[in-house]
Amino acid sequence: MPSGPFASAVGVGRAEPEWAALNKVAGIVGSDPFESSGEQSEAPLKLDDAITSGDMSTAPKKVDLLIVGAGLSGAVIAERCSKELGMTSLIIDVRDHIGGNCYDYVEEHGIRASKYGAHLFHTKFERVWDYVTQFSKWMPFDHRVKGMVPDKDGVKKLVPIPPVQETVNTLFGEAVDSEDKMQAWYEKERVVPAGGEPANGEEAALSRVGERLYERIFKHYTKKQWDKYPAELDASVLMRLPCRTSTDDRYFNDEWQALPLHGYTRIFENMLLRDPNISLRLNVDFFKAREEKQLPEYGMLVYTGPIDSYFAQQGMPRLEYRSLRFEEEWVEAPPEGYFQEAMVVNHPSADTEFTRIVEYKHVPNQPEAVKRGDVKGTLIAREVSSAVGDPYYPVPNPENRALYERYRELAEKEEGVCFVGRLASYKYFNMDQAILNALEIYDNLKETGKLAPKRRPEDFGPGDGPK
Ligand code: FAD
Ligand code: UDP
Repeated sequence: MPSGPFASAVGVGRAEPEWAALNKVAGIVGSDPFESSGEQSEAPLKLDDAITSGDMSTAPKKVDLLIVGAGLSGAVIAERCSKELGMTSLIIDVRDHIGGNCYDYVEEHGIRASKYGAHLFHTKFERVWDYVTQFSKWMPFDHRVKGMVPDKDGVKKLVPIPPVQETVNTLFGEAVDSEDKMQAWYEKERVVPAGGEPANGEEAALSRVGERLYERIFKHYTKKQWDKYPAELDASVLMRLPCRTSTDDRYFNDEWQALPLHGYTRIFENMLLRDPNISLRLNVDFFKAREEKQLPEYGMLVYTGPIDSYFAQQGMPRLEYRSLRFEEEWVEAPPEGYFQEAMVVNHPSADTEFTRIVEYKHVPNQPEAVKRGDVKGTLIAREVSSAVGDPYYPVPNPENRALYERYRELAEKEEGVCFVGRLASYKYFNMDQAILNALEIYDNLKETGKLAPKRRPEDFGPGDGPK
């Protein structure tokens, strides 16, 4: 029976001490300027009507930067250019909130929930960690995921994902109790790719875990998520997940793993709402505003929307994106207050349409009332992947990469415009990679006077990846 957030001797939301010790975030760190100035409420704060009205007539008439998108990429560039260079920005976003896909809020029962799916911050980039701790307090959190996975008799068992010793013991009745034995188990199962290096997602997974785990954990989850089997995707997609020989059941390997104490939206509030150089207009679509000649005069355009939308008039084929449907359900009286064992439970089998279920109540950065146990019900969200809806995921495979290259060539010729972020770079950026990419673009502006990426998106690596 689920009984609440996982904990160890180190604290709530912490892995077993030897693995928790690998996380460099040990206690609450960072600063929250809004909180320091006396703001007691949880994010999100109510925004001025002028910001949410969508009325461009009240926006500045001339800015250094016009930024399309109030997500991480746009926010970092606005913040850096203002603080360091005194530049002014107007950020517009078609949505009615700041934060892009990181946006979270406190829903009607008092639970902090993410509008666009669970977000877990993790990074190996010290620069990024130093940066984000200026805009929020953070608490250590070792994200751990379980999966409902069929065992050798087809009976579904709740096991750690990524695979660790317990995963193979539970699923296959093994008695692996050391790293050496686990290594030997992998060696026995592993399928070495014909060409040496894995050429696609299937070869990547088979070369790491072999047929049995591939079939149970990766093959159908991937088909549900991408509407493609792993063989049709780049190896990098499947390499996002570590595969461990140890008992370390944390989802990520990175040195810094943490939750923002008052949610992700607070980070954006501190970056954007306290700075007179930064103006915001929400509920504004860039293309419509441009057509209606409502845009201000600007020095440079920073565009963080889908790159193919920007060049739609060129008549090229559209890039492929995956979207998600979040099927939310309020569970009124779950036994012991919780629906499932962990914040995220993956469902990798073909017999469910959804890929995972998120239960927000598990995370220890919930508002106090939730942590005290005053909220008896629980909010869950089943994630169902879809080809229609807001574009969330670029689909990494050779065809899409080739098409993106054609868009990138157009982007390079577009004077005075910088294409930044997950949608404009068509890159499966995690939050920390999106931040680092934006910081480096800012570096370039400072050093060369040009807003341009320092490295190609593919040079950021496959994500968390194995170490
Ligand atoms: P976005 O956040 O997408 O921001 C782009 C903004 O541009 C949007 O707000 C959009 O409305 C706006 N826009 C687009 N077109 C227009 C237009 N025409 N006019 C005006 N505005 C426009 N990362 C992690 O590190 N850990 C996680 O656990 C994690 N989980 C994720 C789960 C999901 C379901 C998704 C989709 C992403 C997840 N990410 C996670 C990735 C993270 O969300 C991104 O790295 C980050 O949001 C990228 O920021 P961005 O500013 O580049 O893009
Ligand atoms: N994946 C899988 N089974 C799982 C978890 C992940 O097959 O239980 C594969 C799947 O292809 C997925 C990819 O690994 O899209 C990356 O997983 P991650 O959890 O990083 O996805 P995200 O959180 O970005 O949606």
